[in-house]
Amino acid sequence: MSDTLNGSCACGLVKFVLVDAKRNIINCHCHTCRKLNGGAFSSYIAVADDNFKLHEGQDVLTRYVVTENVDKHFCRVCGTPIYNKNRKYPGLIIVPLGALDEVGQMRPTVNIYCDSKLSWVAMQGDTRDYPQGMTD
Ligand SMILES: [Zn+2]
Ligand SMILES: [Zn+2]
Repeated sequence: MSDTLNGSCACGLVKFVLVDAKRNIINCHCHTCRKLNGGAFSSYIAVADDNFKLHEGQDVLTRYVVTENVDKHFCRVCGTPIYNKNRKYPGLIIVPLGALDEVGQMRPTVNIYCDSKLSWVAMQGDTRDYPQGMTD
């Protein structure tokens, strides 16, 4: 099985590939991610910078400075979030799960910012859960 995952934005102008993606999905329950992505929580897959290959759409990829540590990169035509960079996690690109074309059987292994989790969001019970950011 290939470890390559294809991704794209909703309008199709941005296309990328994740190479050797570790299949670890992190759910973030923080307020900022709710604002940025519009969902009750946000699921991400993190890969090394070198393993994110942008194939098309460099000209429409736009950056929004969220905080002094976090930049959001999105398609300025359709608004699809493509990846985040966080200075607290140098060398990593954090890709929203929805930007991937096929999610398959990948399951979340970690929940962060559970202090901000909405009460009706059910937990799987087999994840590592942190009240704030990851501490190990
Ligand atoms: Zn787009
Ligand atoms: Zn978050």
